[in-house]
Amino acid sequence: MLTKILYIIIDSIGIIIILFTIRAIMGIKAEYGKWLKYTLGASILAIASNILIACSADPMLAEIAYCFYFSSINWIIYCLTGFCLLYTEHRTEFNILRIPGGCIMAADALSIFANLLLHHHFTIYEKTVGGVVFYQTAFRPVYYIHLTIDYIYIIVALLFIISRIVNSYDLYRMKYVIILSVLLFVIALNIAYMALSLVLDASVVFYAVAGMLIYFCTEIFVPRKLMNSSVSRAVDDMNEGLIIFDISNNCIYTNAFCEYRFGITASTCDITRDPIASVLKDLEASGRNFGETSYIDRSGAEVAHYKIKYTSLLDRRARSIGSYFLLQDTTEEVHYMEEIQRSRIAADKANEAKSTFLANMSHEIRTPLNAILGMNEMIIRTTQNPEIAEYADNIQDSGKTLLSLINDILDFSKIEAGRMEVTESEYEPLQLIRDCYYFFEQTAGVKDLYLHFNFDEKIPMKLYGDPLHIRQILTNIISNAIKYTKEGGVTVNVFYNNTGSNRIELITEVSDTGMGIEKEDIPHLFESFKRVNESENAAIQGTGLGLSITKQLVELMNGRITVDSAPGEGSSFKVMIPQTVTDHTDSGKLILLHKKEEAVYKESFHAPDAKILIVDDVKLNLKVACALLRKTRIKTETALSGDAAIQMCMTTKYDAILLDHRMPIKDGIETFGEISSKGMNTDTPVIMLTANAVNGIEEEYKKIGFAGYLSKPIDISSLENMLKDILPIAKVLP
Ligand code: ADP
Repeated sequence: MLTKILYIIIDSIGIIIILFTIRAIMGIKAEYGKWLKYTLGASILAIASNILIACSADPMLAEIAYCFYFSSINWIIYCLTGFCLLYTEHRTEFNILRIPGGCIMAADALSIFANLLLHHHFTIYEKTVGGVVFYQTAFRPVYYIHLTIDYIYIIVALLFIISRIVNSYDLYRMKYVIILSVLLFVIALNIAYMALSLVLDASVVFYAVAGMLIYFCTEIFVPRKLMNSSVSRAVDDMNEGLIIFDISNNCIYTNAFCEYRFGITASTCDITRDPIASVLKDLEASGRNFGETSYIDRSGAEVAHYKIKYTSLLDRRARSIGSYFLLQDTTEEVHYMEEIQRSRIAADKANEAKSTFLANMSHEIRTPLNAILGMNEMIIRTTQNPEIAEYADNIQDSGKTLLSLINDILDFSKIEAGRMEVTESEYEPLQLIRDCYYFFEQTAGVKDLYLHFNFDEKIPMKLYGDPLHIRQILTNIISNAIKYTKEGGVTVNVFYNNTGSNRIELITEVSDTGMGIEKEDIPHLFESFKRVNESENAAIQGTGLGLSITKQLVELMNGRITVDSAPGEGSSFKVMIPQTVTDHTDSGKLILLHKKEEAVYKESFHAPDAKILIVDDVKLNLKVACALLRKTRIKTETALSGDAAIQMCMTTKYDAILLDHRMPIKDGIETFGEISSKGMNTDTPVIMLTANAVNGIEEEYKKIGFAGYLSKPIDISSLENMLKDILPIAKVLP
């Protein structure tokens, strides 16, 4: 009885082992995994039938259990042969044998179950061992046909494995040998059971062990062994050094790289020697016991750079069990970075040179332009001849276009060099928009275009941002709208969005009724030097720089610009710029006083008692300035150099001084320094009147102490406005 119970327990354990093995096999992607799974499934049936045989109290039940047992052996062998064919890469043979083999096995299984009626395979008899009844089988001749079929299958499987063993080598031969051994062992147990007429077939339990062994061999042992040998080969071949230390800092491994580069091997490597020693020192100094550091090896003919990574090896409970160092040669990378650095410096220098060149070019063009426009202004003021007045007007237009071109190029180069900066200050948006209106009122009027400005009166009174750049952006867009519109006019809507307690987005929408822009041209509008619709625009002056500068300025202030346009219908440009609110009071209504167009120049004030000094090394510039101011009746004295001006300032008190910057021997800044430190004009307001128009220069002059800044060519109204502000009030007459 005990034998039966023990047998049932062992068989049940076998089933559990098989179930666990099947679970593990689920992870095998190759098709042979599926066939191994089927084999183990049939094994479960065989073991379960054996348990039933052991438990049977009735010969009929035992016979049914035996039928299940013999036919499940069929399927074990069939699936195992399938596994062997697939595992030994005999797919063609597998495909040929699968269906006929399956049919033969199915017929054989049917014939076994027919034994219940015909008793042509075996008969059941009782055998009593130690007082316990066992049911055994007495075989009939037909049973041996079944046995032959099974053995033919087994032999086929064995032959394929043996052929593979012959053709393969090393690790792969070993994996086939293991499978062969497992199969032979199962066969041996089965033969022993039959030869010795044992009461129960102990070999079935071995199916579980065999399944596990095959799984272990195919999926764990062979891949691991292969991985270990390839990893150690790869580590030896890799272009990085690897040094491993045990817990007592004994070196246990160095790869070929270490020997080749540093001449160290596992037996000669020492933690107190370089490069290890300096890495550890570095890391200790930084308070870390792992990490990365750089190491320079100067021992060879050429200096070599390394990046060394030090890592502690920890066990599962995070206890240190050793450490390893990875040495990576970064010499090329370091040289590359040095090269990039050198190129960057060279590029910066080239950029610097370009900017200087552009600044000089701008200066040099402005100087003669000052004379051209100044003298032309005098012609406009004095001529009575309408034909000459028209010529002079044309000169003035072209001169102004040339000037705006120079300004655009200067801005563009500054943006390109990444040197355009946002200069923030408090300003009143209402004032800014009003100025824009007055700036364009006349231009729009000349073209017979309407110019409508709608300003949301709830816009906060004071904002903090960059008013100069905002003005430049609006000027560019509004001037384009006027430039590219023949009929109708331009509408400017100014409103805002609240984006935070002290933040708003100031939105300006400029819409025109002009020629519009083709849809496919819109994405290219903001490209530098890009003009679209060239055939229609040929007669309109432009460089294609305005919108590119505008977009970059908007982005510099973290804003956005969008365009909506249809050919023949007009365009709408929308600019959104985030601003900080400094005074939440409403701005109020935008009241625009429509000025009468002043075709003829009229001086804005008179100051016959005021005396000013004008300093410039170019005689013509002095002549222009004096001529332009003549109508104001200001007394003007001139000096052709810094030294001459200083001399004059020692003896004469002036109400204001207009000083040029670039002068030989003593420039404007040096001259200003001397005038304001000695003589009679230490408090006199000095205006820098220069052809230097580089962006941001005004702030620099003001920081030095200049009372104002004006760029050449002289804009007479700006000059008059500035003088009106700084001359003593008593001397300024209407
Ligand atoms: P440009 O100096 O040529 O005016 P911009 O960069 O300011 O250069 O503009 C680029 C091109 O975009 C212009 O050449 C023009 O074809 C087109 N454009 C700009 N604004 C308008 C507009 N309001 N209506 C129609 N076309 C416009």
